[in-house]
Amino acid sequence: MRAFSYDRPDSVDAALRGVAGQPGTTTEAAVKFVAGGTNLLDLMKADVMRPERLVDISRLGLDRIEELDGGALRLGALARNADTAYDERVQTRYPMLSKAILAGASAQLRNMATNGGNLLQRTRCYYFYDTGTPCNKREPGTGCGARTGVNRIHAILGASDHCIAVHPSDMCVALAALDATVRVSGPKGERTIPFADFHRLPGDTPQIDSSLAADELITAIDLPAHGFAEHSTYLKVRDRASYAFALVSVAAALEMDGQTIRSARLALGGVAHKPWRDPAAEAELAGKPASLETFAEAARVLLRDAKGHSHNAFKIGLAGRAIVRALAEAAGVEHP
Ligand code: SF4
Repeated sequence: MRAFSYDRPDSVDAALRGVAGQPGTTTEAAVKFVAGGTNLLDLMKADVMRPERLVDISRLGLDRIEELDGGALRLGALARNADTAYDERVQTRYPMLSKAILAGASAQLRNMATNGGNLLQRTRCYYFYDTGTPCNKREPGTGCGARTGVNRIHAILGASDHCIAVHPSDMCVALAALDATVRVSGPKGERTIPFADFHRLPGDTPQIDSSLAADELITAIDLPAHGFAEHSTYLKVRDRASYAFALVSVAAALEMDGQTIRSARLALGGVAHKPWRDPAAEAELAGKPASLETFAEAARVLLRDAKGHSHNAFKIGLAGRAIVRALAEAAGVEHP
């Protein structure tokens, strides 16, 4: 591992002073925040990320889960993933989120990893971690090893010629379906970022994962009051029963009127550079009877532009079946 300097400020203002003046986005920054360190330290050991300085934010007091007016809930950026998943309010009001968090990583990692860090974790593309291979995300302009290499775990939606990586988080898929909001502090004060705008597609700048600026700090994630507790689920399909990233995952949330779907939220993980939502597929469900035929049609709409690569075309059919099953579970419809 390369040498780096280290600070441990005790306030948000002091932490922000530690990254002040850095241009660009957080993924490109020379000075990085560290909290749980469950991804960043691995990346530094592998020489994939080379920060010159780490600002340890673990003592900023951003680890609470708090009630907001109107029944909403604020998740502190430094609350641990495990503490969030097992919080009684999260389990009761946002069971889809609790299930998604517990589907990710291992118990040890969930005990260490923070909510803010979960949003900022980087792809697990094999070539991104292998410094002997080309990777536009790690070294812009070098090419993409995955496009012509092994791409079983890669994207089927929203990819570009420059990068076909997927975002690895489970938690973020549920946060996307819930329409969460990311709260951020920076040199100009506080701002909020709708979850749909936080992560980005690769385009021709795949080295940039999110819209967070290099001199900004995530302080919290706000959940709206409506958690879809009655009719929601998170379904993860993976190679092993635990400690594996999703091949495909689905966060499905419905508002029901008897057996009719009033409105729907559908987010997919493991298929794109960000949690994937498609308004057309959600509109396809609204006003329809909750049936396997309705769910299959929504899956067809969502996957209409899906494109496989040499090893991952199987994901298109897998995603379609996962969408139908998740929607059936959320609606309480029997599924074969
Ligand atoms: Fe790098 Fe993206 Fe290609 Fe993977 S898919 S090798 S992360 S450019």
